[in-house]
Amino acid sequence: MTCENPIGFETLVAYWLGEVPEKREAMLEEHLLSCAYCTGRLEGLAALASGVRAAVKDGKVSMVVSEPFVEAMKQAGLCLREYRLEPGGSLNCTIRAEDDAVISRIRAPLAGVKRLDVVRMRGGGEPEVRFADVPFDAETGEVLMIPSAAWLKTMPAFTMRMRLIAVGEAGEKQIGDYTFNHSPSREPGS
Ligand SMILES: [Zn+2]
Repeated sequence: MTCENPIGFETLVAYWLGEVPEKREAMLEEHLLSCAYCTGRLEGLAALASGVRAAVKDGKVSMVVSEPFVEAMKQAGLCLREYRLEPGGSLNCTIRAEDDAVISRIRAPLAGVKRLDVVRMRGGGEPEVRFADVPFDAETGEVLMIPSAAWLKTMPAFTMRMRLIAVGEAGEKQIGDYTFNHSPSREPGS
């Protein structure tokens, strides 16, 4: 099973992240319908991302992925900007035109956690979007968030707060709050 003109991995990832323009998306979907080879590769990608596409489609703004997904993006040669954030921390972040994606490594004590939810909050602290049962790595203590690059590149300066919540039989436990102070990148000469 092969394909004469396989969809590039970078394009597959962009398609998966929902960042392909509509017209191109329709073309890709047509190809995928008639190509078992590329569909198989897309399914491989889906497996790496552990079925989080639903969250992207709903939230439209960001997704949570697994480490193998990030590794696959790197191997495909995507230009990634990575940030690391400890509980209670805040950082200044940006995205440049040449960045394909921004990865936020949200650090947290996750030993023993069975289910983890991520809540994005408005400025006043009220919950805005909740991603339930996201993938996380208890051993490294990291949650990997990827905001939509297409969306981020259109954004002016803004502040976003995220909260991690462990959900167990005994109820919910706040693990940490994280603040991202985003500013648009200043291109040289502009
Ligand atoms: Zn194909």
